[in-house]
Amino acid sequence: MGTSPPVVTPTKSPFAEPPSDAVVLFNGKDLKEWTSTDRPGTDPGWTVSGGVLTVDKAKGNIETRRRFTNYQLHIEWRIPANISGEGQGRGNSGLFLASTGKGDAGYELQIVDSYQNKTYVNGMAGSIYKQFVPLANPARKPGEWQTYDVAWTAPVFNEDGSLRSPAKATVFFNGILVQNNVELKGPTQYIGQPSYSARHGTSPIKLQAHGDKSEPISFRNIWIREVR
Ligand code: MG
Repeated sequence: MGTSPPVVTPTKSPFAEPPSDAVVLFNGKDLKEWTSTDRPGTDPGWTVSGGVLTVDKAKGNIETRRRFTNYQLHIEWRIPANISGEGQGRGNSGLFLASTGKGDAGYELQIVDSYQNKTYVNGMAGSIYKQFVPLANPARKPGEWQTYDVAWTAPVFNEDGSLRSPAKATVFFNGILVQNNVELKGPTQYIGQPSYSARHGTSPIKLQAHGDKSEPISFRNIWIREVR
C-alpha cells in the first residue's frame, strides 16, 4: 500500500470565483458546456439543482464540448454526508485532465472520499491515479465542499507519433500542494504500465461516473483559464 501521506488540516477558504479571463464550465445553472462522453453531442443527463451538479451513474461519464491544451482549472466537489461503502467504493469519481476517448480513457486525477477512508495510496484523492501518490492528505469530511486547482501541460508528440514531452500536472487540493509538476507516464492505466501509445491533440475535460454503489458526488464552480 505504501506510506500514507501526512494528514493536513486544509486552508479554510480555497474557494475561488472565476477571474475575468476564465471560461466558466459550470455556473450552477445548466450543462450547456458538457456532453455525454460515450454519446458525443448528446446532453449529459446529470442532475443540476440548487446550483450544484450531481453525478447520474446510469448516464455515464460527461466531458466538455470545448477542447483544451494547457490550462489552469478550478473545480469544487463534495462527497455526500451520508456516503457509504469503503476504499475505492466510497465516493469514487474522477477529473480526467484530458479525455482521450470513450469510457475512462484519459489522465485521471482521482476523486474519492479520503477522509479516514483507507485505500491504496496512489488511488487516494489528489493522486494521479496509479501513477503519483499525493504529497499530503488535506481531505475534508463528507458533506463539506473541497477544491482542486490544477495546472495542466498537455503532452507534445512528434510527427511520427513518438513522444516529444510528457504531460505535466501541478495540483492543489483544498489549497494544499499535492502534485508538484509531476511528469505523467501516459494516460491512466488501471492495470499495467502506462505509456504514450497513441498521439493525441487538444482534449475535452471529463468527469467520471464511477460504477461503485455509493451515493453520487456533486460538483460546483468549475472554471478554466487557457494558458498559451
Ligand atoms: Mg475515479
